[in-house]
Amino acid sequence: MSQSLLIAKIFDIPVKLHWSFGLLLLIIPLALQGMGLNTKEIIFITVLVLGVFACVVMHEFGHALTAKHYGVTTKDIILLPIGGVARLNRLPEKPLHEFLIAIAGPAVNVVIAALLMPYFLFNPLSEHLVGSQPILNFETWSDLIPALLFINVALAVFNLIPAFPMDGGRVLRSLLSMKTSRLMATNIAVRVGQLFAVLFIVYAFNNNGLGLGLIGVFIFVAARQELANIRFESNLEQFTAGEVFHSKFSRLQSKDQMQIPFGYLKRVEEYNFLVFDENLSRTGFGSQDLIGTLNEKSIIKAVEDSDLDASILDYTNQNPLPGLSPNESLKSVYEKLHEHSHSILPVLDNGEILGVIDFHILNRFLDFQRKLKKGKVATKK
Ligand SMILES: [Zn+2]
Repeated sequence: MSQSLLIAKIFDIPVKLHWSFGLLLLIIPLALQGMGLNTKEIIFITVLVLGVFACVVMHEFGHALTAKHYGVTTKDIILLPIGGVARLNRLPEKPLHEFLIAIAGPAVNVVIAALLMPYFLFNPLSEHLVGSQPILNFETWSDLIPALLFINVALAVFNLIPAFPMDGGRVLRSLLSMKTSRLMATNIAVRVGQLFAVLFIVYAFNNNGLGLGLIGVFIFVAARQELANIRFESNLEQFTAGEVFHSKFSRLQSKDQMQIPFGYLKRVEEYNFLVFDENLSRTGFGSQDLIGTLNEKSIIKAVEDSDLDASILDYTNQNPLPGLSPNESLKSVYEKLHEHSHSILPVLDNGEILGVIDFHILNRFLDFQRKLKKGKVATKK
């Protein structure tokens, strides 16, 4: 999702627009023009689409702010043509918290709909319905209110379908996790979601509903992805930092030149490094003189800028550096690597650095574990 444009930062959470959304804004007016609508109607519908996306953003902030309340940070909120995604940095531990975070989004749409309700005190509902189908009038701006109201109700209902990646899937999983393990709960929720997906696809086939069919396929794929994520996570929970860290690692001196880490990187020995300086001590690991980290990207940047004579200090990331304990689970290691700007973290015991872990080390370990499970690695008999 790197092809997204940062449009705002609200409550310190980046809100990004996926490039395909820009395309949508271009296509809608053209498509509407093709349908023979006049300029006024096109402007109305474009404003309505923007209004709907404002509601989607509020929905996502419903998730993100509830998550924040329970100590879970949000990486970013991405707006896609099919809706929004609040990407949380991790799953909340307690099922009740997951439930509340998941339900908060649709709850926002219910609140918006309720706030728009008084409109019908002054305008009879029947004016906006043909049978039970809502119709759009575009006479005055206030005609947008019933449209937004209907759409918010639809957003709440659609999101509560008990299938991943919809909020309803998370609601179901959290309720099941109160009685069983998260892996088992996800397994059941994924199956329920896939059942819904199949029903959608069958219905779409019989009724020529292409849109619903696509949603069905999307849900089916997303449900499998969620199961893979949770399996990965429960794999991580089985191991500790102490089983994974590399005890052989280079200790870069901040006053040395960038040539040195480039040499290590070139030989594909190490990718990310700890940086030390006897005169500076900022990370709290005073006796060890550890001041920060240097990552692969910075070294490559130095190469590209022909800046290998620069001191390592110039490229060192000196943000606060979290330490890992040997008995910390790999899940927590994974989260710390994701949440902090550092690509490598030290494993500490009583302030002593035992070794390091970065994503390369983590992935190599997990790869090996997978091969062990599949029996690809010969074990001693
Ligand atoms: Zn949601």
